Amino acid sequence: MTDSAHVVLEGLDSIRSDIEDVYKDLHRHPELGLQEHRTAKKAADALRGLGYEVVDGIGATGVIGTLVNGEGPTVMVRADMDALPVLERTGLPYASTVTVTGSGGTEQPVMHACGHDMHVATLIGCARLLAESREAWRGTFVALFQPSEERGDGADAMLADGLTSKAPHLDVVLAQHVLPYPAGYVGTRAGSFLSAADSLRITVHGRGGHGSMPQVTVDPVVLAAMIVVRLQTVVSREVAALTPAVVTVGSIHAGTDPNIIPDRAVIQLNVRTYDDDARSRVLAAVERIVTAECQASGAPVPPEIEKISSFPPTVNDDAVTRRVAEAFAGYFGDDAHTVDVQTASEDMSKIPGAFGVPCTYWGIGGSDPALFATADGVPVGHVPVNHSPHFAPVIQPTLDTGVRALVVASLAWLAD
Ligand code: ZN
Ligand code: ZN
Repeated sequence: MTDSAHVVLEGLDSIRSDIEDVYKDLHRHPELGLQEHRTAKKAADALRGLGYEVVDGIGATGVIGTLVNGEGPTVMVRADMDALPVLERTGLPYASTVTVTGSGGTEQPVMHACGHDMHVATLIGCARLLAESREAWRGTFVALFQPSEERGDGADAMLADGLTSKAPHLDVVLAQHVLPYPAGYVGTRAGSFLSAADSLRITVHGRGGHGSMPQVTVDPVVLAAMIVVRLQTVVSREVAALTPAVVTVGSIHAGTDPNIIPDRAVIQLNVRTYDDDARSRVLAAVERIVTAECQASGAPVPPEIEKISSFPPTVNDDAVTRRVAEAFAGYFGDDAHTVDVQTASEDMSKIPGAFGVPCTYWGIGGSDPALFATADGVPVGHVPVNHSPHFAPVIQPTLDTGVRALVVASLAWLAD
């Protein structure tokens, strides 16, 4: 494998400045979820120019490009494209000054504060190197550019628009994310890597009335308070001590006036878990407690429980991860690490899930190595993390590392 990787990556010197320009351009022109028209066009145009068969407009702005290069396995690499409603404060010469009009008519700043511009640029780089060195590998390479990861609806949008019938049969799906580790660092992890995140909006109904006559009302404030307290027992009493889970009620609203018992209360909560068992157990417990507390209070109608957003757990396949980790160790040496479980969430795994194939998702460092005491990623100063208005990956070696990681991992299947 390593020989093929060296052959393919010989081309990196000649595309480096182009990829840096792509990155800066994307960083200057961030687009929110499902509005990534400019970004998607840039990716699709690049792929078409390289001879990929391109399908675009999948789930609004999703793009796939397929390069068939003889018999062999099929590898899909996925990059997300969306930015965030964050006002950039990096002071970089290529900082975003973009604003868009939000749903309420207010101006919203937009910034690539999660590094998805790195993901797009490195995937374009990998796609280009593979297209320009077809003698060094065989099989099929599929580049997928996904919209709207941050809101968790981009993979769903592509799948609902028939993604599985637009792409070839796959063997594996790979993806990477820029993380606040030293630039140059690549980190894999087998098994649970990112949490599942489910956000719920729960409306409980009471019977409103005068604050002086509670006996003729059903008070949804008391009901909601009981629910919030009882939900604290889900993690402490229903989940095993060594199984990580979080239930956070982040928002609770009811009423307008001290002397009016309102007729409803709205609770919004977030659940984090790391595997399907814990996830379904916790979500079922939440539903059971809410329903039972409504009954206990004599609520006139059952509660409404709506899912606001839903990210599955990202669980890296053991064999696939081992294959990538071995390839990384062979190529990157001491810069290849095993990383910890991350508390963030991703919708990437919905794609391999829909295709019924295994996946692995790894991290690449993006932060200035000078901010770290050791190569193991122990920070010495303040390291702006993803979603911070100061999040500013250093262009190099982050871009080179990202392109190399995608090429090396893909060639773990595609090497001649
Ligand atoms: Zn993010
Ligand atoms: Zn992200």
